[in-house]
Parts: sequence; C-alpha cells; structure tokens
Amino acid sequence: MSEQVSFYKNVERNFDKASAYTKLPQGLLEQIKLCNSVYKMKFPVKVGNDVQVVEAYRVQHSHHRMPTKGGIRYSIHVNQDEVMALAALMTYKCAIVDVPFGGAKGGIKISPRNTSVAMLEKITRRYTAELIKKNFIGPGLDVPAPDYGTGEREMAWILDTYLTLKPNEVEGYGCVTGKPVSLNGIRGRTEATGRGVVYGLNEIVSYKDDMEAIGLTVGLKDKRVVVQGLGNVGFHAANIITEYGAKVIGITEIEGTIFDANGIDIKKLLKYRKSKQTIIGFPGTKEIKGKNSGLELECDILIPAALENQITIENAKNIKAKIIAEAANGPITPDAEEVLLKKNIMIIPDIYINAGGVTVSYFEWLKNLSHVRFGRMNKRFEELSQNNMIDVLEKATNKTISIKQRSAVVKGANELDLVNSGLEDTMIEAYKTIREAKKKHKIADLRTAAFYVSIMKIADAYGSMGIFP
Ligand code: NAD
Repeated sequence: MSEQVSFYKNVERNFDKASAYTKLPQGLLEQIKLCNSVYKMKFPVKVGNDVQVVEAYRVQHSHHRMPTKGGIRYSIHVNQDEVMALAALMTYKCAIVDVPFGGAKGGIKISPRNTSVAMLEKITRRYTAELIKKNFIGPGLDVPAPDYGTGEREMAWILDTYLTLKPNEVEGYGCVTGKPVSLNGIRGRTEATGRGVVYGLNEIVSYKDDMEAIGLTVGLKDKRVVVQGLGNVGFHAANIITEYGAKVIGITEIEGTIFDANGIDIKKLLKYRKSKQTIIGFPGTKEIKGKNSGLELECDILIPAALENQITIENAKNIKAKIIAEAANGPITPDAEEVLLKKNIMIIPDIYINAGGVTVSYFEWLKNLSHVRFGRMNKRFEELSQNNMIDVLEKATNKTISIKQRSAVVKGANELDLVNSGLEDTMIEAYKTIREAKKKHKIADLRTAAFYVSIMKIADAYGSMGIFP
C-alpha cells in the first residue's frame, strides 16, 4: 500500500528527529515547530457574467524574527497542509543561512497554465488586497517572493497593488522580492536558487573523505547530472552546473524524460521547449519512457527541482544517484529517505541547498530599504585605488603591464558581482556549519544536522528575547 503523505507531517517528523539531539525544553520546541498564523481566504473574481471563487492562503510559520518571508505558489494542488509545510521549511531555511526573517508561504489554488494572463493579474491583485486588509504583507511584516508557478511578473503586480493602496510608505518597495530589476528588484535574483544549488554542490563535493565514502571523486567536473523540472530553479541549476564542467545527461519534465550521455545543451533545450511546448524530440537526445523514469537514471547527482513527494517508498529503491540535491522543497518523503540512506546515497536537504533564493531576496530587501544599488557608491573608487596601486608597482619595478593585464586586474564590483559573491559565501559557510554539527553530534544524515543547526539558532533568538530561560 502506498504511504499516506502529509507534507506538513513530514516536516514535523524531520524536526522531531533533530530536536532529539537538543536539550531544549519541550515547550520551546513546540513553539518553534508550530505554525503561528494561518490565513485561509476565499475571494470572488468576475468572469464574464459570472463569479469565480478563488481559494488562497498565507501562512506565517514563525514570528521569532520579523518580517516573515516566503514565496507564493500558484498551483491547482495548493492546500493548507502544503502551504504550512512550505512556511515551516522557510523558517528553518532562513535560520540556516542567517537571513533574519521568520518563515512564511502563500498559495493560490489555480492552474497558471490554464488561466489567461489577464485573469492571473486580476487574481494576484485581489490576493494582494486581501493580504493588505489583514496586515499579512508589508516590508516589516511579511514579504512574499516567487515560488512554483510565479515569477517576476506576479511580483510586479503585487508591488503595484501594494504601492497603490499604500502610496506614502517610503519603504514600500520592500513589500515583495523577486521583482523585475526595473522595479527595484536585484540583479541575480531570478537565477539565485539554481545558482545557490550549484555553489552548495561545489562545496559539498570538495571534501575528499565525504566523496570517497559514496564512491565519487572530488569536484563537479565530469559529474553526470539529472534534473527534474526545467522551471526557474531547475533550468538555472542545470545551466550553471555545466559551467563547472558537469554534464547534464538527463532532464525530466511533465511531458517526459530525455537522455544524452554526452550532455544536453540546456539553453538550447529551453528555447526548443518554448517553441515546441515539449522537451521530447530535442536533437541528440533519446526519450526514456515511463512516468518519472528520469529520477531512476544512473547518474552521480540527481537534482529534483519540481515539487514535493516525488521520491517515495515506491521508487526509492530504484534511485541510482550517489547524491540527491533537493532543489525543490520536500521532494523526498521520510520513508523514502530511510531507504536512500541505507543505500548510502548522500541527501542534501532542501532547507540548505535551495536557500539561495531567500538569501538573494534578503539582499533585495536590504537594497529596497537603503534605496541604493549595491556597488553604486564604491565601484569607481575601487577601480581608482587598483589603478593607483598598479601605477606605484610599475614605478617601483620599472616595468609596464599591458592594457589587457591592467583591465583584468582593475575591476570594481558591480551589483551582480556582489550578489553572487554574497550568495557563494553564504552557501559555503552554511554547509561548513551543518557538516561540523553532523560530525560533532554524531548525527547520521545531513537533513537532521541541518534541522539541528536551525533549531539551535531559533532557540537562541527566543533566548535573547527572554522567552526561553
Ligand atoms: P517553476 O514553476 O518555475 O518550475 C517548475 C517546473 O517543474 C515546471 O517546468 C513544471 O512543468 C515542472 N514539473 C512539475 N511537475 C513535474 C513532474 N512531476 N515531473 C517533472 N517536472 C515537473 O517552479 P520553481 O520556482 O522552479 O520551483 C520549483 C521547486 O523549487 C518548488 O519546490 C519550489 O518550492 C522550490 N523553490 C523555488 C524557489 C524559487 O526561488 N523559485 C526557491 C526555493 C525553492
């Protein structure tokens, strides 16, 4: 019989496993674990001469830090259990990467594929108005971002609705992140989650003893990668990992799975999918039949980047990857995880590996509050200082360097440089903390270690507030 999968219960199960390693009082653990506020709403939108009732949610899991933060999902499968689970994951994720927010998540039960753009806009604006009415959005309250089925277009509608209804808020632009750059979004946010996955993986595969333990060599070069979901996260993760010399040999999407042992050109594949509405038939690849067959392909790194509950007790035994990097939230059920760990598969948990999105959202929020683009004040100054340094060196050594050499050295950091550097540093440092906790407390797996780190940081915040003695 197939397992009954409550996503929220799965998150709680992972939490309980890790909390057993802490010596924290039961009441405090309870407070950290539970969802603080759940707002379920139904609102009408006019369709021709009729009305469509839309079901939507916003869940704020933890108020230990404000604002709360988390994406908004558009999917016909949205339900309260799912939004609560995703909000909880956001709390743990933010703590792991030291982003000073509580966790939240939103969802609207609609199919974005089968809804016109005009209708999507109408629903998004009405949803935003509902959030404003209940104080569930604002730069110091709760800050949404993109998630499954949403992107910068929806964030722009949210921003515009917010600014229309709250015109005098000087920090109003910080009410939502993942906005277009032209509306005070930040460079690098769109690809941040996928890029963070690659920065994290690059660090993870750099430890020789860890790699030897699972039968892999060090480094991303020549690693065979399979990705599920060619959406925002999956596309960028797949594309960026090839820059490190890895080969994406398989892609699995709603319409099926394609395979090429020599590596798939991800940018060309995306163009192909846009024009043909399918990945099947992409030149040089062969189709692999069977639902979710891509997950079972022989590879070094599997990146599920679609939805939760994809690897279950049913298919876990067939997974052949050595590493699974959870770019999606909750792609592996706890029962499946037990099977995978017994097979010596290294699981990189969602609450760490997909935290790049919220990290760069944090940078965007900071940019909005400070009202200045990163790099604007110092880029020229850095370049001038570096030029002066080279002039002094040339004089002292009596040697001249070429213009090409000089321009390779002289480079002030622009916004994208700073965002990517901050993201890389965050992913490396967070992994080191999780890895050390795993070793120090003799924790068997990385997910439990990541939850442990997160719970301890949140407990510390409650302690500083005086709530926890
Ligand atoms: P998206 O809507 O841009 O893309 C998701 C893709 O997955 C789509 O192309 C869809 O067709 C595909 N898909 C759906 N079901 C599938 C299936 N059964 N098999 C194969 N492909 C399937 O969404 P996204 O923003 O890339 O989010 C993907 C996952 O990453 C979600 O779990 C989300 O919560 C998580 N996530 C997203 C962000 C972000 O910044 N967008 C940040 C952290 C985590």
